[in-house]
Amino acid sequence: MSIALYPGTFDPITFGHIDIAMRASRIFSRVVAVVAQNPGKNPLFSIDERLDMVTSSLLHVPSIEVISYGGLIVNCVKEYKASVIIRGLRALTDFESEFQMAYTNRKLYDAAETVFLMPSARYTYLNSTMVKQIIRLGGDITQFVPEYVHRKLLLKVGGGGVAAASGAEG
Ligand code: ADP
Repeated sequence: MSIALYPGTFDPITFGHIDIAMRASRIFSRVVAVVAQNPGKNPLFSIDERLDMVTSSLLHVPSIEVISYGGLIVNCVKEYKASVIIRGLRALTDFESEFQMAYTNRKLYDAAETVFLMPSARYTYLNSTMVKQIIRLGGDITQFVPEYVHRKLLLKVGGGGVAAASGAEG
């Protein structure tokens, strides 16, 4: 049985993340989405808020579970006796940092293999930062995130255009 971890900040989860989770669940018998605390990235949403949104957004994905984790991902891999780390690869711009992270994880724990999956082409240029910028400026993000996440974003940043944007953090 191959267990795969799918780590990310998920600040917040988008349809791009969900696309990768669905692809992973078709390949691996057990997939664990790991919501990383990542304080260094100064997330807009707390770890509990992100965990809640990821859980709600992946309810329809078979063989997947969702956890949060504050430590090194390779330690989480060991704890779960996993053998694979899933990462999504979008445009070429992802490559350098993903390559570096995969090699670092391999140095820390040689038994884990990083597997890159490509999302549907329509999600290639989608990322959480862009979604947050659009909603702060009052734009429509319906096509980028599930309705539940959309509502949480509206509560968090207001979505009222420039006035809301100037007061918002992250
Ligand atoms: P991190 O801070 O670890 O990069 P993210 O939440 O930004 O966390 O991303 C988690 C994983 O999901 C990464 O592998 C990232 O490349 C992937 N990902 C994010 N957005 C998309 C998308 N639109 N399509 C495919 N993969 C994506």
